[in-house]
Amino acid sequence: MLLIVNAGSSSLKLKMFDGADEVAQASLSEIGTDGHRIALEQGLAKAGVPLSRLSGAAHRVVHGGADLTATCRVTPEVIARITACVPLAPLHNPANLVGIQAFAALAPDLPQFACFDTAFHATNPDVATTYALPQAARDLGLRRYGFHGTSYAALVRVLSARDQLPKRLLACHLGNGASLCAIVNGRSVATTMGYSPLDGLTMGTRTGGIDGNAVLRLAELHGVQRAGEILNRESGLLGLGGSNDLRALHLAGTPEAAFALQHFTYWAVRHAGSMVAAMGGLDAVVFTGGIGENDSGIRKEILSGLAFLGVSSDAARNDRNESVLHDPTSRVAIWIVPAEEERQIALEAQALLAGEGV
Ligand code: ADP
Repeated sequence: MLLIVNAGSSSLKLKMFDGADEVAQASLSEIGTDGHRIALEQGLAKAGVPLSRLSGAAHRVVHGGADLTATCRVTPEVIARITACVPLAPLHNPANLVGIQAFAALAPDLPQFACFDTAFHATNPDVATTYALPQAARDLGLRRYGFHGTSYAALVRVLSARDQLPKRLLACHLGNGASLCAIVNGRSVATTMGYSPLDGLTMGTRTGGIDGNAVLRLAELHGVQRAGEILNRESGLLGLGGSNDLRALHLAGTPEAAFALQHFTYWAVRHAGSMVAAMGGLDAVVFTGGIGENDSGIRKEILSGLAFLGVSSDAARNDRNESVLHDPTSRVAIWIVPAEEERQIALEAQALLAGEGV
């Protein structure tokens, strides 16, 4: 059995997989940085899984930087590289490292693996990942990386297994964090998130795309720390409409809430156009994530914005959140595929485990 660990600064989400099957899970919140090892023990106890049944642990790590571009065994060198990426993901990577250290303290002899949110986008061409900055600034690692990679890799795996992977796929991961990915023959060629998960679509609490000079103005007025909080935690749907939850915005019935919803779908369509241009056309659209899987109204708006590409959905199927949404006239296939990030991490780590004969 493999333990999948998603360690946040004050939370720990655990899932246990036997092959491709999820067999147990536990979530713990409000734990201090020092408390992760105890929380890990509590989580295993809560899930009823003794340590002796585990063959290893695989961790979700947000940022792999330019070098860590595939799921790998955790070694001292990998830990050093994840640590080197801390400036790129100051909130996430330290927490992920704490998770790795906590498991090592608990089970020093078991193998650990790291799976990176950025890795799937390593196939983006340089022209897509490069910011037009002077060399010295680019040498700091200031470039686009992209995120939600595990979710996109899972979509590719699921569609391939069904023999449905199209040449040009627009993948829409719409949750509290939201991004789009242009996938050609199963490989990412462009994505809306950039240096950090702030860029691209309007999100629950993040602005999405914003001019760098507007960011500088906020930093000038409020200082860098406060500007970062405004951009990442107080903006997006929350900043425009008063809530970061789509369900609350639909119910609110205020002009602000309606505008926030309109902003979300308008920018999703605008960015989708950019993704389609990067692929030179479109064969299929797939939705995943809390909003993508459940919010028929949002999907309807986005899909109608893409009608000029030959996208045509069946209203009744869409209302029922069915897995196939295109109507017979659509030139583009439209699907919902549930997000499977943990299963993807489990399968990738198990493949390494089998290959190493550990
Ligand atoms: P995360 O990005 O944190 O993993 P999820 O993918 O679970 O989040 O998405 C969470 C968001 O999905 C919520 O904030 C909410 O806006 C939206 N959501 C979840 N369920 C529904 C639903 N039934 N209808 C509409 N929106 C939903």
